[in-house]
Parts: sequence; structure tokens; C-alpha cells
Amino acid sequence: MKAEIIAIGSELTCGAQLDTNSQWLSCELEARGWTVQRHTTVADDRAAMVRIYQEAAERSRVVLITGGLGPTLDDITRDTLAEAFGQQLVEDEESLRHIEALFTSRNRQMPERNRVQALRPESASVLHNAHGTAPGILLELSSPVCTIGVMPGVPAEMRRMFHERLVHELPASDVFVRRSVIRTFGLGESDAERLLGDLTARGRNPEVGITASDAVISLSVTARAGSAAECEMLTAAVRDQIKEQLADVVFGEGEIELHHVVAGQLLHQDRKLALLEGPTTGGLIGQWLTETEEFASRLAHSQLFPNLSTIGPHSASSAALNGDWEALLREHGRKLLTERTADFVLLSSPSTLTVDENGVRKQQGSVIVLGADLDQSQDVSMTGNLAVFRGRAARTALNQLRLHLLKVR
Ligand code: AMP
Ligand code: MG
Repeated sequence: MKAEIIAIGSELTCGAQLDTNSQWLSCELEARGWTVQRHTTVADDRAAMVRIYQEAAERSRVVLITGGLGPTLDDITRDTLAEAFGQQLVEDEESLRHIEALFTSRNRQMPERNRVQALRPESASVLHNAHGTAPGILLELSSPVCTIGVMPGVPAEMRRMFHERLVHELPASDVFVRRSVIRTFGLGESDAERLLGDLTARGRNPEVGITASDAVISLSVTARAGSAAECEMLTAAVRDQIKEQLADVVFGEGEIELHHVVAGQLLHQDRKLALLEGPTTGGLIGQWLTETEEFASRLAHSQLFPNLSTIGPHSASSAALNGDWEALLREHGRKLLTERTADFVLLSSPSTLTVDENGVRKQQGSVIVLGADLDQSQDVSMTGNLAVFRGRAARTALNQLRLHLLKVR
């Protein structure tokens, strides 16, 4: 069944505030078997709001609206809702008493302006707001058949109202949905699509979606069916197919990150790791691997060097090495393997930034993984911002180690 979400407020359309309500509501609706087909963000503009409600009600069985329920003149969701569906606004006594009581409990008299918050379209009912002065509105239309739920814009109030008041009022979806996510590293989005072939075709059930974030490609497998068991069966089959097709490019499922996997491998195999990080990863691997005491127990040493001359007491040899930073890093890395009794060392190089004639910034650096019988280096280069480059470089290093640990397991 189809749903859509409307976010109201000029603070959203002008870019001052990010619309997080629609994202949150979409997750909630999708998890309950609804298909959210559209998000609309609209300024506090009477004519636009009226038209958008009417169009949404024609298209979707459920329409959720947030924002514009405040007491100020720019908050016109109540008025426009009544106007859109040809209704009068009436004062809801219970809401008015609640709003007055809220002010009394704060030792204040209710300003006259707040009285408008007790208004609702005549055929609507009120969604009680236990946590603020703006009640929500539930409007059931019969022609077109549509359930409209209106909630305050303040995210915390909206979330509680959705769970406590609105969700039970929505018609039950006749569909079960099961979504699982497979996480991969080392492929581009188009490689993944090519390898998965028909699986990613639109309109299939389960549907396989590909998203890229922080150099990790995630494949979401979403099944819709008449029962939970059927969903489970559909997703399991496709998940197995994907994992077989992509093999060791897959590093996990769900919310997992590469460093969780590597820390798990090191724990399982009782190995230790030393880190020598230059500006290419900027200490990111060290940050990740000290997130928990358990991860940190795998670190034999962690050092961030700002530039090559600060690497350690032997850095004078850098001159002798003629600026060959790879040789210098390896020399120090090998020393860490023995002196710190580490099984592996992850190294990252200094980084260079070039800006071409079009102003495109490109970061470049390398990562190296060393072990007793392991020496692998990989260049990383990226246009765009430093944080994203570092994330990619750190994950590249961790992924090399992950693949090695898979083999020697
Ligand atoms: P309103 O209900 O329009 O008075 O909104 C109250 C406040 O909630 C706004 O000032 C925003 O800071 C916040 N807000 C409104 N809509 C959203 C939204 N869609 N996502 C996140 N925050 C919002
Ligand atoms: Mg507003």
C-alpha cells in the first residue's frame, strides 16, 4: 500500500534546517509494509500547501505531514488542511484544556495566540501531545479514501506522537517486509551491478538496491510478501546468491564496519597489530580500533606521525634513503613487528594534494600492510574532501589485512 510524507516549513526549504522527520517516518512506514512513494518539502505557503495535500490524498492511502502546528502566524497547517478538504475549523475543548494546563504547570498564563493550537478540521480527531502544546490531527477522508496524520515538526515530539498515538490508527498494511543489508568493500557500484546481473533488475521481489557510502558498497535486499516466513525465504535465497557471486568482497551483514570484522579476526586468531599512520589515514584506524577495550586489546602500538622527519629516532636515515618514504616506512614497520611483537603493521604514507586547472582537488597517498610473510602496498587517490579520502584509505588498509587473515585462518 502506498504512503507519502510531507514536511512543512520555510526553514526546511531555505536550507537552514535538514528534514530528518521524513527519513525517520519512511523507515517506520517501510518496516510496517508500506511503500513510501514520495517525499515533499514545502515552504509555509498557503496555496502550495493546499494543492500538495489534495494531490497527495489522491495518490496515496496514507499521508503523513509534519510541521506548521505551532502558535505563530507562519504555522498554517491546520488552516490549510481544512481549506484543502472543504471543512470548517472547530475548537477542540480537550486540546484547549490540555494546552491551558500545560501553561499552568509552568506557572504561566496561556497567551491568547496559543488558542489556535486547539483548532482542528471539523471531521478530524486530535492526536494528544503529552510532551508539547501542539496537538496532532488525524483526518480520515472517504473520497478519496485516505488517512492523513499531522504531527508537530519538533522531531522528539513527532516520534513519540507517531508511536504513542498515530501508528495504531493507520490501516494495517497487507504486506510484510523484510530488509537485510550485505556490506562489501573493493567494488564500484557499477561493478557490483554487473556482477549481480538480473538480481538488481527493477520490479523484482526481493528487490536488490545498491548504495555507496564511505567507499563501502551496501546491497539491500528487500522482500515483500504475505507472511514473515515467506519474506524470510525470499531474502535468504537472494542473500545466498549474492554472497556466492561476490565471494570475499562481502565483509559482513547489517550495520557492521570493516574494523569490527578485522578486530574480530585478530581476536579469534589471537594476533596483534601495530599502527604507524601518516596523514593519509590521519589516525583514523587508531580511532576505530580503540572504540572498545576489546578492539584495543589487539593493538600492540599506535602512532600518528605528522611528517616523515618525526617518525622516530632513525629518521635521520631518511636523507640517506633519498626521500624514499616507502622504504623508510617499511624499515620502521619491520622494526615494530619485532620490537612491539606485533603480527602485522598497518602503515599509511604522507599525503599529497594537487589542484588541477579546473580547481578539482585530488588527494593521494598509500597504505602498506606488513607481516612476517606479507608486504602489500596500495595507492589511494581521490577527488573530494580529506575526510572521505582518509576513510577510504583506512578501509583499504583494513580490507587488505582482512583478506590476508581470511586466507591464513
Ligand atoms: P513547527 O512544528 O513547524 O513549528 O516546527 C518546529 C521546529 O521543528 C522547527 O523549527 C524545526 O527546528 C523542527 N522541524 C520542523 N520540521 C522538521 C523536519 N521535517 N525535520 C526536522 N526538524 C524539523
Ligand atoms: Mg514551522
